[in-house]
Amino acid sequence: MIHKISIEDIDVSGQKVFLRADFNVPLDQGKVRDDARIKAVLPTIDNLLGRGARLVLASHLGRPKGQPKEELKMDPVATRLTELLGRTVIKLDQVVGPVVNKAVADMKNGDLLLLENLRFEKGEESNEKAFAGKLAEPVDLFVNDAFGTAHRAHASTVGIASYIPAVAGLLMKKEIEELSRSIENPLRPLTVILGGAKVSDKINVMRHFLQLADYLLVGGGMANTFLAARGYDLGDSFYEKDMVEEAAKIIGESEKSSCRLVLPVDLVVTRELKPGSSFKTLEPEKIKHSWKAVDIGVKTVESFGECILNSAMIVWNGPLGVFEISPFDQGTMFTALKVAESEAYSVVGGGDLVAALEFLNLADDINFISTGGGATLEFWEGKELPGITVLQDKT
Ligand code: ADP
Ligand code: MG
Repeated sequence: MIHKISIEDIDVSGQKVFLRADFNVPLDQGKVRDDARIKAVLPTIDNLLGRGARLVLASHLGRPKGQPKEELKMDPVATRLTELLGRTVIKLDQVVGPVVNKAVADMKNGDLLLLENLRFEKGEESNEKAFAGKLAEPVDLFVNDAFGTAHRAHASTVGIASYIPAVAGLLMKKEIEELSRSIENPLRPLTVILGGAKVSDKINVMRHFLQLADYLLVGGGMANTFLAARGYDLGDSFYEKDMVEEAAKIIGESEKSSCRLVLPVDLVVTRELKPGSSFKTLEPEKIKHSWKAVDIGVKTVESFGECILNSAMIVWNGPLGVFEISPFDQGTMFTALKVAESEAYSVVGGGDLVAALEFLNLADDINFISTGGGATLEFWEGKELPGITVLQDKT
């Protein structure tokens, strides 16, 4: 188990704290469209301010690639933070340099400010030593709460830790605890549900869970690749040709492991992927050339449900169909209802699945929803995340 020092373990009063958050939120016409990522950091902000820290907040937003971009400035985040905190959040137009240093030097206990988009600076993503030094210059302590960026070794997630002490924020701490539990000491039976588009994105997660889980349920576009490996011709369905061989290997590995690999036994197919288009449910062997498999069928939901209802823990990543287009969200929805119905402790990760569950109003039934996408997947692969590794260990 990873044991990192968190803000709860140290005295922060009077300390100038660089709080790396993940405020990489979707924007819509200059406004924050979904503030879930901002809300996720509020406990850490409240905790630090309440205990007399001086807070310098920083995040990246979008992909400006080392250049200032008007539409990716942090102002909308400052506006939303101001609303959520009920106090004015001052936003600087700089990331580092004399203006920042002066503003931080003038702060009092319980003050906070927000820096400009970290990725406006070239040194951020290249983890340039000198730039990391500049980030560290005005502050005393580095608190990392940006779990969603922990798989990237950037100046604000890794480099800065070579200049000042680095500890975990409350969100980071919770992510580490929850995700560790699902791979190190899972309740059993453990059911892992994997969906989404591509096998290639998730092959390592799959292999890791094949060693760990009791049931591995596969749906979504990636199931098509597995069915192709089983020899089915899925017509016009999305699948990854160059991953068929790898999928066949995984099927072979599953036969030797104690984990049961469960693939769809029926699929919702359509000729046209658009809202309201006609569809039917077919067994894989009955799919013809012009049909696309876009969701799991009712019998598959039933068979997934048997595993789910028999589980003590459920780990789920990736939607089981093209949930963006109604009614191809039904497989994901009915599976989510089984998860909600079961007594099992459920842990969900991945951007699109979380969006799907929120859209379906089922997110509240999940015990833990990870804020990471790629970071969560890498954690589940059993990889070390550089943004976690640099945090001080508890002894
Ligand atoms: P997550 O972000 O939850 O990890 P992914 O990014 O791997 O999920 O995959 C999400 C995408 O997979 C969605 O856009 C969804 O439309 C797509 N998808 C799911 N099932 C299918 C399918 N049968 N055919 C094509 N695309 C699919
Ligand atoms: Mg995704």
